Amino acid sequence: MTPFICASCGVNVCKTHELMFRLRGSLWDLVCAKLRVLPSNYLCIGCIEQAINRRLDCHDFDCLTINLGSDRRSDRLNDRLKGFKDIYSIASTRAYKEISE
Ligand SMILES: [Zn+2]
Repeated sequence: MTPFICASCGVNVCKTHELMFRLRGSLWDLVCAKLRVLPSNYLCIGCIEQAINRRLDCHDFDCLTINLGSDRRSDRLNDRLKGFKDIYSIASTRAYKEISE
């Protein structure tokens, strides 16, 4: 079985329940570029937030059902997803400047 390891810090994101989420593609690509990891990897919330130097919020998550529901998620991930509804992320855009500084 393939281990679900954060490509940056090495924590098992399956065990910490930070596996079941998906960020918006542009943000994910930016984070992966900053951390110099391939976009096919897994990352924990802590490493993502360190890369963008701010906390994630519900607008950072992609319009996918994987982001709905709260089962099997860390308290931290549930907190960041608070208020997430799949329609929100369609209208939401965040400038590159805002997420990169
Ligand atoms: Zn990590």
